[in-house]
Amino acid sequence: MSGHSILVVNAGSSSLKFSLFRLDAADTLHLAVHGQVDGIGTRPQFKVKDDAGRRLVERELDVAEVREVKDAIALARAWLRGHFAGETLLAVGHRVVHGGAGYTRPVLVDDAVFADLEKLTPFAPLHHPHNLAAIRAIRETQPQLPQVACFDTAFHRSHPQLADVYALPWEYYAAGVRRYGFHGLSYEYIAGVLPQVAPEIANGRVIVAHLGNGASLCALHAGKSVDSTMGFSPLDGIPMGTRPGELDPGVLLYLVGQRGMTPATLENLLYKESGLLGLSGVSNDMRLLLESAEPHAQFAIDYFVHYIAKAIGALAAVLGGLDGLVFTAGIGENAPEIRARVVKACAWLGIALDGEANQRGNACISAAGSAVSAWVVPTNEELMIARHAHALVKAEP
Ligand code: ADP
Repeated sequence: MSGHSILVVNAGSSSLKFSLFRLDAADTLHLAVHGQVDGIGTRPQFKVKDDAGRRLVERELDVAEVREVKDAIALARAWLRGHFAGETLLAVGHRVVHGGAGYTRPVLVDDAVFADLEKLTPFAPLHHPHNLAAIRAIRETQPQLPQVACFDTAFHRSHPQLADVYALPWEYYAAGVRRYGFHGLSYEYIAGVLPQVAPEIANGRVIVAHLGNGASLCALHAGKSVDSTMGFSPLDGIPMGTRPGELDPGVLLYLVGQRGMTPATLENLLYKESGLLGLSGVSNDMRLLLESAEPHAQFAIDYFVHYIAKAIGALAAVLGGLDGLVFTAGIGENAPEIRARVVKACAWLGIALDGEANQRGNACISAAGSAVSAWVVPTNEELMIARHAHALVKAEP
C-alpha cells in the first residue's frame, strides 16, 4: 500500500483521538481509520475502527504503557506505521482549543509558533497543555514532519468588536479577557458545506446549533461568524452535558467569597458536575435522559430546549432576522425530539417543522412554505482539520 495521508490528532486530558485521512488521485481526503486511546494514566484502552465503523482493534493496556499523552501518540503512530506501511505521512493536523486573539487561521507550528502557543495556556488550562503535549511529542521524534495547529477560536475572529468585548475596563480586553467563541472548526465546516447542502440560505442569516456534549450556537452571516454563545471559555452560553452555560458571575463571587470554594473545586463544579448531569442527577447523555422517567431528567431536557430557544432569539436579533437554522453534532444530528422541540419553541420566528422529514433526519426538516428553513447537517471537525493541514503543506515552497 502506498500513498499520501494526513493524520488528525485531538488530544485531551485522559484521551487521545486520531483519524488518518488518505489522499486519492484527485487530491481529495478520505477517512481511512479513526481511533482513540482512552483512560490515559488510569485504565488505558486502545480502539481503532475503519471508515465503515468496523472494529480493527480493541484492547486494554497496562497503565505503565500509557501514562501520558506522548505515550498515546507513540502507540497510535506505531500502530499506524504497521497498518499503513509504505504510506507517506504529509502532515499532522492538531485540534488546538485556543488560538487567542492573534490566530485567525490554522498555522504551521515552528519553534516560534510553539513558544507563542505555550503562552496561551492560562486561557485554556484544562485543554491546551494536552494539545501542546501531542505537538511536542511528535516534534521530539520527527522534527521534520509538518504539524499544523487548527484552533477552535479562529473562525470567530471575524466577530465585530461589539461581540468580542466584555463591558469591563479596556485593560482587561488588552490582557486577553475577550469573547473568543469555540467550536469554530465545526462552524467552519458547516459554513463550507452549506452552499451545496442548503444553497438558498448559505449566503444569508443562519444560526448553527452545535449540540454535542459541549454545545454552543453561532450566528453566520454569508458564511462568516458574527456572534456565538460561547465567550472567554467554553463554559458560557447554553447548558451542556456537564457545564451550566451562562451563569450570573454573582454566583461565582458567592461560592468563592461566602462558601470558600477553591478555584479547583469551582472548576470541577463548572466543567464536570453541572449542566444536564447536574440538573438531572441521572446522566449527561441525552439518550439516557430521553429514556428516563425521572422528573429531573425531563426537567433537564426542558431546560436545555428553553435556553437553546432563548439563544436563537438573541442571535436572530443580532442577525436582524433569520433565513435558516441548522442542527449539528451528537444531539443535533441524532435526536429528532430535541430538534422538534427547539423548532416549536422558535415558531414565532416563522419556522415550521416537517415532522416526517425530521424523524427521518433529512437534510431539510422544515415544512414547504416555512419562512425560515431548518436543516440537519452532520459536522466533521476532523476532516476540516485534515483539509487545513493539507492546504498548508501544499502551500509550502
Ligand atoms: P462531543 O464531541 O462534544 O463529546 P458529540 O457531538 O459526540 O459530543 O455528542 C454527544 C451527545 O450526543 C451526547 O449527549 C449523546 O447522548 C448525544 N447523542 C448521540 N446519539 C444520540 C441519539 N441517537 N439520540 C440522542 N442523543 C444522542
